[in-house]
Amino acid sequence: MRIIITAISIIYLSFSLATLANTGKEKQIALAFGEGPVPGVTESLLQQLDALQIKATFFPVGMQMEQFPEQTRAIINAGHQLGNHGYSHINLAELPLSSAKEEIKKTCKLLQSHGYQERPMIMPPFGNISVELSDLLEEQEFQLAEWDLEPRLHVDMSEPESIADYVAENATDGSVVMLHPMYEHSEQIIEALPLISTQLHQQGFRFVTLAQIAESEKIENL
Ligand SMILES: [Zn+2]
Repeated sequence: MRIIITAISIIYLSFSLATLANTGKEKQIALAFGEGPVPGVTESLLQQLDALQIKATFFPVGMQMEQFPEQTRAIINAGHQLGNHGYSHINLAELPLSSAKEEIKKTCKLLQSHGYQERPMIMPPFGNISVELSDLLEEQEFQLAEWDLEPRLHVDMSEPESIADYVAENATDGSVVMLHPMYEHSEQIIEALPLISTQLHQQGFRFVTLAQIAESEKIENL
């Protein structure tokens, strides 16, 4: 009898856990890193993310991937998502369509040659892209990256606490935080990450990649 009751309890417990997972009590948030890779910062950033057990999304610049192949491969090998941020970090909307396409194409090939086999999301430099290019990418089933929280536009980036507080106060389910530690305020951003992680976990968030956020949105919009 006791065995049956135990078995029933186990089934009930598994059912409750499955229900909890399906009701979506857990909220999702993604960290995105633009620019780079640069030696030094890449290693510190990867180490920090590993310690926090966070998989993030990186948007390295093509030219810099060429210059720093070791750092590019380190990001890929750590299991993070990578996206396409163009080859020379130029405003794609101001280029003739053929040159803008070349910026994207060259960078896709670079990602592949470094061992990244997924279809990359596209983050146009400065968020600028022509309608023609955007339509063309959509036809080829490329996804454009979107984000809603960019601390550098709102707070003093020399204070890790301010960066973390901004994210913690403004995060909602499905938020994407854009940070540029490979460009400026490297130390402060890397220092802010454990603060962000702690505060967001307390609020019931789970860290995922941009691709996972996009996937959840697709399901939500069915
Ligand atoms: Zn950029």
